[in-house]
Amino acid sequence: MSESLDVLDSAVLEAVVEGEVRLTPQQALRLYHEMPWPELARLADARCSTLHGDVIRTYVIDRNINYTNICTARCTFCAFRRDGDEGDAYTLEPEALLDKVRELVNICGTQILLQGGMNPHLPLEWYENMLQVIREEFPRVHIHAFSPPEFIEFVHFFAPGNEFGSTLEEKLHAIMSRFQAAGLDSIPGGGGEIFAPAVRQKIGMGKCDAEAWLTVMHVAHQLGMYTSATMMFGHIEGIADRIHHLDLVRQWQDRSIEDFSRDGGGRYLAFIAWPFQRENTPLGRVKEWGQGDGDDHASPFPGDAVARLDGTGEKQDHPQFGRRIRQAGATEYLRMQALSRLYLDNVYSIGASWVTMGPQVGQLALRAGANDLGSVMMEENVVSAAGTTYCLCESLLCHLIRDAGFVPAQRDNEYQLLKLHDTDHAPDILVDDWSTVRAKKLRVQGIDERTPQTIELAVEK
Ligand code: SF4
Repeated sequence: MSESLDVLDSAVLEAVVEGEVRLTPQQALRLYHEMPWPELARLADARCSTLHGDVIRTYVIDRNINYTNICTARCTFCAFRRDGDEGDAYTLEPEALLDKVRELVNICGTQILLQGGMNPHLPLEWYENMLQVIREEFPRVHIHAFSPPEFIEFVHFFAPGNEFGSTLEEKLHAIMSRFQAAGLDSIPGGGGEIFAPAVRQKIGMGKCDAEAWLTVMHVAHQLGMYTSATMMFGHIEGIADRIHHLDLVRQWQDRSIEDFSRDGGGRYLAFIAWPFQRENTPLGRVKEWGQGDGDDHASPFPGDAVARLDGTGEKQDHPQFGRRIRQAGATEYLRMQALSRLYLDNVYSIGASWVTMGPQVGQLALRAGANDLGSVMMEENVVSAAGTTYCLCESLLCHLIRDAGFVPAQRDNEYQLLKLHDTDHAPDILVDDWSTVRAKKLRVQGIDERTPQTIELAVEK
């Protein structure tokens, strides 16, 4: 869109909703600052309906399996990782993995999300064997696995010389091809966090930079795989950093479509954003902006003072940068999700993030640009180690979708509908007594109590 167009003009916004014009970063920033969030949500809802219709909203049944918690990275927002010599460090044996997949299949689940820490002790063949074992035993289960930072570590672990090629792309291509041949279907967008270098260097110690992250996904697209992109916000970053993040996803998606779509290539199918969870993490001990000695409420948040729409902000631009955070609540989450729906005109799905925000906010997200309520959550370890997460059964997910005014439908990884719940046999319609169906809330009580505890929460009717 031309910068000269007034992005607050109703005709211009109508064109954005119809997908006829594309927001620029500057216009997105203006929308963020000048449009009330309910209005932004309404526009994103309209854009979502343009793309997905206004009848059906979806969910998937999958299971997170964290095959190891041993990790060489030291992300400041992580309470899950362990060093190899810690007492509760683990790596799952194949049988334990298969048991978990079996439990998923027993509840009609279709996909596993397989992720681990970056464990230097596991050879390439260990991963191939893990994928092959699952593929042979469960040929119809979709394996959505690893993440770009894991693949960059795999390059360091498995291809330090030139035997797999000399460039990062060649090495990635060689390793990912082997994983794909062993059973890998697609790659989730873990480790996206915030792409701007100044932020990433502060919060993702040991994780790959944005260029490497995006290159992994570009190679996956070349190999015909679908992937997702993510953003974790509400910590040290500025608003311009978030828009820069969205812009990089959109630019690299354009590249993948341009480079590979004619040959059956993949692309980003989904974008999911969630606010940082502070409990039990090093980053969570950083003071909230405004609560530290000498914080000047009248001056900008340090992250905003540093952030640039082109990602060139530098940490020395503010002495408090990285030393104060600005957490995001429910309305901030909905505002960012709505903006992402409007901005990412080339990404099919926007996923709601109830895992961290809670079911009611997740439901609201379906009216703020999200077309998908994510997954029935059988297991989650990484985020729940860093605070509170929620677990919902299928009937509750369907209930939330229907109460938001839509027909719930189970989908697969590629957003094909598997079951449309428009009859009396729908999982939520079959519930006689909602007082017996509860959302589970998982959380760790304290930094030294590392076993997640389960607390039952009544579902409001
Ligand atoms: S978030 Fe992932 S990569 Fe970072 S320390 Fe935790 S397990 Fe390791």
